[in-house]
Amino acid sequence: MRSSERQRTIRIADFDLPRGAVSIEALMAMPRERWEHLRTEINLRRRDEPARPLARCRICGGGVFIRAQAVADGDHMPLYYHFPEAPKGCPWHEGGTMTPDAARAAQYHGHQESALHRHLCQTIEALAKADPRCAASAVDTYLRPAIHQRGRWPDVFLDMGELGRFALEVQLSKPFAPEIAARHLHYEREGVRLIWIFRELESPLPQGFHDVITMQRGNAFLFDDAAQSASIDSGTLILSCYLEDGQGGYLEPRLVRLDDLNTASGRSVFLEDRRSDRLTAYCREVRNHWWKALQHAQRERPNSPFYSERFAPAWTSICGQVPDLSKWKDDYWASHSDRAQAHLASLFAIFCSVAHSAEQGTDTLYITRHSGDGALLAMLNSKFSGADFLPYANLLQAFVENTPFADLLGRPSLQKILGNARDAQTQIDPGHVVWWAVVRMFPEALDGLVRAELIDLGELPPWACSSAGEGVEPM
Ligand SMILES: [Zn+2]
Repeated sequence: MRSSERQRTIRIADFDLPRGAVSIEALMAMPRERWEHLRTEINLRRRDEPARPLARCRICGGGVFIRAQAVADGDHMPLYYHFPEAPKGCPWHEGGTMTPDAARAAQYHGHQESALHRHLCQTIEALAKADPRCAASAVDTYLRPAIHQRGRWPDVFLDMGELGRFALEVQLSKPFAPEIAARHLHYEREGVRLIWIFRELESPLPQGFHDVITMQRGNAFLFDDAAQSASIDSGTLILSCYLEDGQGGYLEPRLVRLDDLNTASGRSVFLEDRRSDRLTAYCREVRNHWWKALQHAQRERPNSPFYSERFAPAWTSICGQVPDLSKWKDDYWASHSDRAQAHLASLFAIFCSVAHSAEQGTDTLYITRHSGDGALLAMLNSKFSGADFLPYANLLQAFVENTPFADLLGRPSLQKILGNARDAQTQIDPGHVVWWAVVRMFPEALDGLVRAELIDLGELPPWACSSAGEGVEPM
């Protein structure tokens, strides 16, 4: 990008908690699916509560959205932009953005619905009607301009009896983010399942199509020649389903019936949730190394498990993600005459004890010999009154607040011990390398962005839900 353009972009956007501030550098470093998720959530909020933007410009406080800027090789780069009503005087203002209406007019102006579009809609309807379960259907291409005003007339509407009601949007030209969000929210409220249908997966794929695929959790549905002949053969509507392969491409397409699709999650219809699984895998990637090492180490040398060489692969794994740990290791040795790897292993054991106790509903400890009722509290009290863990009172609080044990923080014994720790020693903050290491071990509880995405997907694990009802799918 040219440097003059770069200077005009919004440097920091403040998202509603728990996401918090996301710098432009952090945004641009995200894998596509992560920023696409943010982009989609911004658009949904915009549609639902225009006066309460999900993300705001740090300087002017105006609402911002994420624009996918096309770059070489069909790739896109995320940039923040002010919504049109943001104060024009903001030093980060990029100087006028196209409103959705203007962009839409530019795409549609002077163009009638294409003959191909009508033909596809009618074919799809006819094939669906061949299924005896189809109780009602409609094709409404003539009313399409009304969609762009207020009405919601799906390209193809199907009442498939016990299967449910479906709105099929046959999308040949790129859809606009505000419309995608609007339609999903509208149909979700109406109890109608929305499926976007493409004719092909162009390469490069325009961002509007990526947005749809994000909404459909990494699934793209095509009505192509293969789908059409399979539909004719089997007497019901069949679509070609392309699932993201996790490496920027797609798996071999599968022919799917409406019966095969997951329609239970409200907002989106999909064959396989390709996004949540990968996010879950990301969350466990580093932690699994530490967990395996801890199990081996405790079996092999129960008296001093944390000095076991079993932790070496776990250490290597986390250094790959938090490179500054290597330098901290030397500093730690210089100041403590102790091994950083062992120190991090015992921190892992403390936090893992909290997580597993929450998960199993009974106090489960991997450090200290406390047992029975109240063992977890006793362990925390003992660890955080010893010299080793004094700098981590704030970290512990941030972690425990996002678990079902949040009420432990109100216990006088722990309150006193954490207070003493804060008085005795400078606390590490979220910029500290050890804080980041623990975030990477337990992102569900400590990484605001990951946490928010898991909440949106209804996939926040129970051990990382505070008592405040997070993780419950919003209405
Ligand atoms: Zn601004």
